[in-house]
Amino acid sequence: MKPCLTLVIFALILTAKSFAQDGVRNHIDAVDKPASRVPEPTERTDEAPQLTEAGMRSKLAGQYRELVNRPQGLILCTAPTDSGMDAALYGTLRMINTSQKKTVAVIQSPTYRTAGVTCLEPNASEGQSLAKVIPLALDQKPRVLFVSQIVDQETAKAACRAATGGQMVLSAVRSESVEEAIEKLCDLSNSRESAASTIVAVLGQRYVRLLCENCKEGYKPSPKLIEAAHLPADKIDLFFRTPRNAKQVCPQCQGLGYVGKTSIFELLTVTAPMRRIILENPKTSAIRQEARKNGMVYIQEEALLKVINGTTSIDEILRALPK
Ligand SMILES: [Zn+2]
Repeated sequence: MKPCLTLVIFALILTAKSFAQDGVRNHIDAVDKPASRVPEPTERTDEAPQLTEAGMRSKLAGQYRELVNRPQGLILCTAPTDSGMDAALYGTLRMINTSQKKTVAVIQSPTYRTAGVTCLEPNASEGQSLAKVIPLALDQKPRVLFVSQIVDQETAKAACRAATGGQMVLSAVRSESVEEAIEKLCDLSNSRESAASTIVAVLGQRYVRLLCENCKEGYKPSPKLIEAAHLPADKIDLFFRTPRNAKQVCPQCQGLGYVGKTSIFELLTVTAPMRRIILENPKTSAIRQEARKNGMVYIQEEALLKVINGTTSIDEILRALPK
């Protein structure tokens, strides 16, 4: 069926968490220049999959590519632990033509190979942090700066500073949702102003397991479920699930019902009205509603599209996604 992108999500209970007050508008502190030694990178041989290979819809990938290739700003990837944040971030890097745009990466323990990228790794034994290496990276005058993760105030400030200085900065913060990622950057940078003025987009990611093609079982979803999910009843034929009452253990999945996984993404774009909302220290629900006006497809809806096309189950998305 044609994806119904205006459907209202089911199983979504927005956590109306207030943004922490900060009330302080600090200018970004100057970052101390560390010693001039350039740290040695660690080699990795495995490359992150392209985001479309990982599960991103091609239309969404087109929108995201345009944002990632803007001349300056900050792109943030986010996910909870073990939900593919690094894969999303390194996949984002693959959207940059690094042979045409000089790209320098500041990485603590690379997760994937970074082809065509100058890679700097902080020397922990010498007390170097990611933030201390960012100025070394900027000395190389990159057009794209990759920072493996923003974990502290120093890194947040250095990344925001770079994002207003003529570079596109790609980085990540650990959080439960795209709205929480914005809140986290506001807190870490201690400046709503610098967060609001630098963030171009936030990409959220989760994994869901793929139904085993050998044993998945089609069923007619109940009218109640279709109604709750605001799906057009006449266009929904079958959903799929793991087999109920299987006579023997499936040799393909050893009875698990799932083989492999795919990624689900949610892309929040920061527009001028969204910047004003971020500055106003809003509830996360206000960010989410504004994102909707810009056409954001909620992660639960993205997941539902994968249920509709039979690659995963309702049970799996309820397990894997925020409630
Ligand atoms: Zn199976």
